[in-house]
Amino acid sequence: MSNDCIFCKIVAGQIPAKKIYEDDVVLAFHDIQPQAPVHALVIPKRHMVCLDDLTPEERLQAGTLLERTAHVARELGVAQTGYRTLINTRGHGGQEVDHLHIHILGGAAIGPMVCRHR
Ligand code: AMP
Repeated sequence: MSNDCIFCKIVAGQIPAKKIYEDDVVLAFHDIQPQAPVHALVIPKRHMVCLDDLTPEERLQAGTLLERTAHVARELGVAQTGYRTLINTRGHGGQEVDHLHIHILGGAAIGPMVCRHR
């Protein structure tokens, strides 16, 4: 656990979250500022900063994270209609919380993949 990490605090139950799914490895909860009708976050319980910073053991857990993300999307009822998964990495990627997380966005057509670069 990282003491100043908001997602570690959610894992530890120190701040509330609307939980969707939990097991030994991952936790899924609703995003506090949803950008789509369905907007969930799937995180490893263990603190990992970002996709570019994984140890070999953490890479194995990342595989589980992907599989559980698909499970959570089915639980949320968006698997049939489709959804977008998103991992932001560091500054240019728009990462605001330095704890690896996968966004699930669905419930409506999500639109263009990225804003046009000017
Ligand atoms: P990112 O920009 O990829 O780092 O995304 C971080 C996401 O975490 C944003 O979509 C925030 O709305 C979301 N977020 C931040 N704090 C919380 C919280 N306490 N509970 C749920 N979602 C949160």
